[in-house]
Amino acid sequence: MQYVIIGSSAAGISAVSAIRELDPKNSIIMISKDKQIYSRCQLPEIITGERTLKESCFIPANFFEKYRVKWIDDTGVTHINTDAHVVETNNGQKITFDRLLIATGASSFFPPIDNLQKGRQICGLRNIDDALQIVDYAHDMKKAVIIGAGLVGVEAALALNDLGLKVTLVENASHILPLQLDQTAAGNYERLLNEHQINIYTNEIVTKIHLDEKQNVTHVELKSGVILPADLIIVATGITPNIQFLDHVPIKINRGIIVNEKQETSIPNIYAAGDVCASTESFTAKITPTPIWPLAIEQGRIAGTNMAGGNKQRTINFAYKNSMNLFGLSTISYGFTEAPNENYTTHIQFERGSYKKLIIKDGILFGAIFQGDISGAGIYGKLIAEKISINSLPPERLFSISYANFFNQQENGLYRY
Ligand SMILES: Cc1cc2nc3c(=O)[nH]c(=O)nc-3n(C[C@H](O)[C@H](O)[C@H](O)COP(=O)(O)OP(=O)(O)OC[C@H]3O[C@@H](n4cnc5c(N)ncnc54)[C@H](O)[C@@H]3O)c2cc1C
Repeated sequence: MQYVIIGSSAAGISAVSAIRELDPKNSIIMISKDKQIYSRCQLPEIITGERTLKESCFIPANFFEKYRVKWIDDTGVTHINTDAHVVETNNGQKITFDRLLIATGASSFFPPIDNLQKGRQICGLRNIDDALQIVDYAHDMKKAVIIGAGLVGVEAALALNDLGLKVTLVENASHILPLQLDQTAAGNYERLLNEHQINIYTNEIVTKIHLDEKQNVTHVELKSGVILPADLIIVATGITPNIQFLDHVPIKINRGIIVNEKQETSIPNIYAAGDVCASTESFTAKITPTPIWPLAIEQGRIAGTNMAGGNKQRTINFAYKNSMNLFGLSTISYGFTEAPNENYTTHIQFERGSYKKLIIKDGILFGAIFQGDISGAGIYGKLIAEKISINSLPPERLFSISYANFFNQQENGLYRY
């Protein structure tokens, strides 16, 4: 029996330890383009120098010896022959597998903007090479434009601001962090960013990148006609799963490799986990990518267990949770940030400088935002993820729910009051 894992990040690494819990002896081969093990979440800190690449490594130094994994790094998989059970690489290797895990994650998505693919000094922020390239450019550059003000865009803005660049964020939506926050919570961060000399354009679209004759970036043009001088551009407009090498492989794909609750793909003995796959997300009950670190770890563990003959299924696959701390202001959000229609009621509390918001329908919580005082927010995440009724709770207690409120449990494991 030979296990092959493609990808050496959150999902791939967590699969290794799960396999070894059940199978101490058979061979595990890991193949990755990455030459180092590091947390992508910490790339902004690597840009500012707050953390070294070594410090962002999330496994012990002896991981590969301890778990007896042969790691083939700096190597891209180019094809999978599913009949012959062979993985082919960009340096001509052919590696056979009995069980395969695809954990190739995702790459920065570059939207179709005029000259975006042509210009130099244009980077995504997904890999260590992106971060090092940004650091390199930042030495000589003065003005950066970040396209997209989601979490990655905002973190990139803070990092470049820290390095002394004049930073402008351009966001298509009506406020920054549109997937994570509502207008009020985002507005508090917009004010803080402005106070730190970071400019923000919302409700705006970048339509063109202006280049000089050597393809150096000079300006960014917005739909409104505004022209922003820029010598560095960071593209933070989302991600696309790394599935190019599956072009001629008969595996089911829809915005990611489709997997079931056991992380099995449509091909027997081939599993997928992490940002590369699309699975049933618990909050929306839709098959979508779930591109957050904790789910990549969990899905990797489930895949590893099942690859090694175990029988583990995903239970909660909840991707609608976010936490952030920018300029010392903490926020946690779960589920919807706005009521989707009039069947939902919204409850808001401003107290001692904190902002809290709950969205409820038929006694079930569908959304929560806690900004400032985030103590006790975790229970709201659990209530939302598991759709536990809070119907019997008096309205004045809505903002002070604690685990102690759950004094009883039903036979199926759900809580009730
Ligand atoms: C700047 C930034 C900040 C983030 N912050 C957060 C956060 O605060 N919270 C959070 O939950 N998530 C955050 N994320 C997302 C999180 O990093 C991802 O969800 C997580 O890394 C996904 O892990 P993964 O193992 O699925 O894939 P990835 O981490 O993308 O790793 C993919 C692996 O596959 C390898 N690979 C890809 N293609 C091939 C190929 N063809 N052949 C061989 N190897 C290949 C790569 O080398 C790599 O080893 C952030 C991401 C970024 C970029």
